[in-house]
Amino acid sequence: MLRFEQVTKGYSGGFVALDRVSFELEKGEMAFLTGHSGAGKSTLLRLISLIERPSAGRVFINGVDLSKIRQRQVPYIRRDIGMIFQNHKLLMNHTVFDNVALPLVIEGFSGKDMAKRVHAALDKVGLLDKVRCLPHTLSGGEQQRVGIARAVVNRPPLLLADEPTGNLDPELSKEIMGVFEAFNQVGVSVLIASHDLSLLARMRYRTLTLRNGRMINDGLSWGADE
Ligand code: ADP
Ligand code: ADP
Repeated sequence: MLRFEQVTKGYSGGFVALDRVSFELEKGEMAFLTGHSGAGKSTLLRLISLIERPSAGRVFINGVDLSKIRQRQVPYIRRDIGMIFQNHKLLMNHTVFDNVALPLVIEGFSGKDMAKRVHAALDKVGLLDKVRCLPHTLSGGEQQRVGIARAVVNRPPLLLADEPTGNLDPELSKEIMGVFEAFNQVGVSVLIASHDLSLLARMRYRTLTLRNGRMINDGLSWGADE
């Protein structure tokens, strides 16, 4: 599904945010990406979603070498990736329906097809009863689930999440993780960047650890008893 080959990313000014990082994420696999603040987690995710380009090395999605992708092809690649952020940037004066429908509107969906998909996505995150609500009337956990519904509404095979539980208490974090697990169980590949060690310790998943831009560990999450 996803392959990094010796990927280095330097920013202008010479700062190296990622240093020769290699790993593979199989189709249908779920993994965490962890490391201290500034370790390079967001940079790694931004290389996958083509917000940034590597300085050296190659990134593949489904066998496609992203270095061969021209700028005008970027939207086609992004269609296969659902992105979830800590601050999900919901449109606060639009309903939950409109927020989730946005990626479909951009793709030219309308009417019944669009409504069906929006309802299916909201059903998966357990928010069907909120479809007509405005985001500010929802709790933090519910708003995060709207962000997830929007990310999955066009059924991408790969989900990327950047600190998706950053603002949530442990109980809600668990709930959000349950949502990711449910997508993973139907074959979606999931990569979750998080520095929440207590959350990682509670979940038995492969964990990729970055330190100062280097991949220093790739194994079961810390604290998980083998
Ligand atoms: P993390 O997500 O693990 O906190 P980041 O990937 O956001 O790490 O950042 C890694 C390092 O790269 C940090 O030191 C950060 O300041 C730096 N960095 C990130 N984006 C840029 C940028 N656009 N220009 C220069 N430096 C950047
Ligand atoms: P996050 O906590 O989400 O990882 P950031 O690190 O690193 O947030 O990045 C927020 C934004 O600021 C990003 O678009 C990133 O490219 C930019 N950025 C981060 N660090 C730097 C930096 N040292 N110089 C310039 N831009 C940066």
